[in-house]
Formats: sequence, structure tokens, C-alpha cells
Amino acid sequence: MQLARFPRLRFAHLPTPLEPLDRLSAALGGPHILVKRDDATGLAFGGNKTRKLEYLCAAALAERADTLITTGGVQSNHVRQTVAAAARFGLACEVLLSRVVPDTGADYEATGNILLDRLLGATVHMLPAEVDRPVAMAERAEVLRQMGRRPYVVPYGGSNAIGALGYVDCAAELERQCDEAGILVDAIVHATGSGGTQAGLSVGFRALNSDIRVIGIDVNGDADHTAEFVRTCAAATAEMLGFDPEPIVSRVRVEPRFAGPGYGIATDGMVEAVRQLAASEGLILDPVYTGKAMAGLIDLVKRGTFSRTDTVVFLHTGGTPALFAYRDCFGTDPSTRAEHPKIS
Ligand SMILES: *Cc1c(COP(=O)(O)O)cnc(C)c1O
Repeated sequence: MQLARFPRLRFAHLPTPLEPLDRLSAALGGPHILVKRDDATGLAFGGNKTRKLEYLCAAALAERADTLITTGGVQSNHVRQTVAAAARFGLACEVLLSRVVPDTGADYEATGNILLDRLLGATVHMLPAEVDRPVAMAERAEVLRQMGRRPYVVPYGGSNAIGALGYVDCAAELERQCDEAGILVDAIVHATGSGGTQAGLSVGFRALNSDIRVIGIDVNGDADHTAEFVRTCAAATAEMLGFDPEPIVSRVRVEPRFAGPGYGIATDGMVEAVRQLAASEGLILDPVYTGKAMAGLIDLVKRGTFSRTDTVVFLHTGGTPALFAYRDCFGTDPSTRAEHPKIS
């Protein structure tokens, strides 16, 4: 592929493991489900933004930037990984956070990702919810330039053509892993938000002439809008790499129905999926992305989307620090407060 001509820093722990979820597969009666552990990319609790940041940080350093600017919600995993990458390369990092999730409590404001952002050295600016984030980032960059600094703006979710290269590369990594293990994959399912992950995978599999289906599960509560993010980013990425965008863009599939009322708002399906995977596989999912994506995968299986003998990869995109900010969703179940069994 053309990937080698783009500068890249190497700090992700790659390849991430590909592990069977045999107990989940058995509980559902097939298909054969595996998990690709991009929660284990290694940078400050890991997650999918780390692959994107290998390319984005390389671009920032190539421009001799001294500061990264990015944006997201209070519990943004993207922001946390960007702040960590900045720390790793001796760059300052300014983050513009907005309160996009309604009715959050004290845990949400103080633990999980926001705690880590501060620990990692971010300068945190709170944005009113109605402010346009790209505009706010451009304005902050201008202020910093006036002060003689060299800011580099990392887009929301790290989702532009540069960031998506991380997932073009992931498609190739997964194919190599499957070849070595003698596994034929029919579909990959993952949470889709700002679109760069799905865009990169879609371009990557196309470039490899693979017809693995990429199924994004919308976490924004507006699947049409999310699909538009994916298509825009996929088209830009395809063009940058010299592929015809049309066949890629026309195959983009984003599943509605699993985000619930909106981004970051807990759903029963999410809580159930997080509990099920923890209790039956020892695998920790998150409340905002992978819990909803797993609820989606389980539902798609139950609706007969896959045949029993298909092989489906669930891409674990990370997000686990946010679990602590959603403690209230998981603390009330009697099974988690069970009496100690009597030992006789
Ligand atoms: C950002 C994020 C996603 C979505 O990835 P996009 O590339 O923004 O679509 C999924 N899962 C987690 C945990 C994330 O932080």
C-alpha cells in the first residue's frame, strides 16, 4: 500500500491481540466471534485514537508544532489519548471540552478520562455546548500563534484522512493476523462516532481487495449523520491514497437503534452487554461506545444477520476509563452486592 509515504511515529503496542470470545459465541449459538483488542494499544489505557495519533503526531512534528489542540466531551477518550501522546513527545496540549451529555453527576465531572487529562498535563478549557468546536479550536490556535507558539489542531475524534491512516493500517494488520491463524473473517463490527475508524477500515479492506463487511454501530443517536461523517472521511482518505472513493463510500453501513436517546446516555442494552462480557469473558467494555456496539452485535446475531458458521470480529475500540464515570449505571444491581456465600 501507499502508507509508507506518510510519516508515522511508532508508540502503539501493535499488533493488538485477536482473541476468541468462545463463551459469547456459544451463548448466542454462533457465529464464531473474536475480539480485536484495540483497547490494548498501550497509550494511557489505550483505545482506537492511538493508531490515528501515530500519524497525526508525526504530521504535527513535521510542522515543528510545540502544542496540540483538540476537542471532545468531558469523558472523551480521544482527548485523553491526545494529551498522553503530547506528553510523550514533549508537546503542550490544550483541550476544549464541551458538556454534550445531559444530566451528568459528580463522578462524570471528576473521574475517568477528565481525571487522566489533568494528570497527563492538559490545559483544560470548558466550552459552552453551543459553541462550534472547529471554530473554537481555530480561534485558540490563532491566540497561541500571536503568543509565538506553534499549535497543531487535531480534529474531533482524530477523524480526518491523516488520522484514518491508522485504521487503513489496522485492516492490513488484521488480515495478516487472520492469514497466519488460518481464519477467514466475514464481518467486523465496531462502535462508530466521528467516523475515522470505519473510514480507515473501509478504505483498508478495499485496498486489500477484501470483501470483509464493515458494520459500524452508531453511538451518536443519528445514524444518517454518523454515516455522513464516515463517507466524508472515507472519500478523503481514499483520494489521498489514490483509490476511487465511490465503491468504498457506497458500501458504508451504519446501524441505528443502539445509541438510545443520544451520545453518552446509558441504555439498558449497553448495561446488559457490559455485564455479560465482564461476567462471561472477563472482558471490560465501556458505557459510551463498546457497550452499545456489543449490544448491537448481539442484536444483529439474534436477528440472523450472520450465519452460524460465519466469523465475526468485534473491534474493541477502548473507552474503559469512562466506566468509572458511569458508576451509577452499574452499582445498583443486586448481583454486584451479593452476600458472601457461607463457607461451611
Ligand atoms: C472515538 C471512539 C470510537 C469511535 O471511533 P471513531 O473513529 O470516532 O468513529 C469508538 N470507541 C471508543 C472507545 C472511542 O473512544
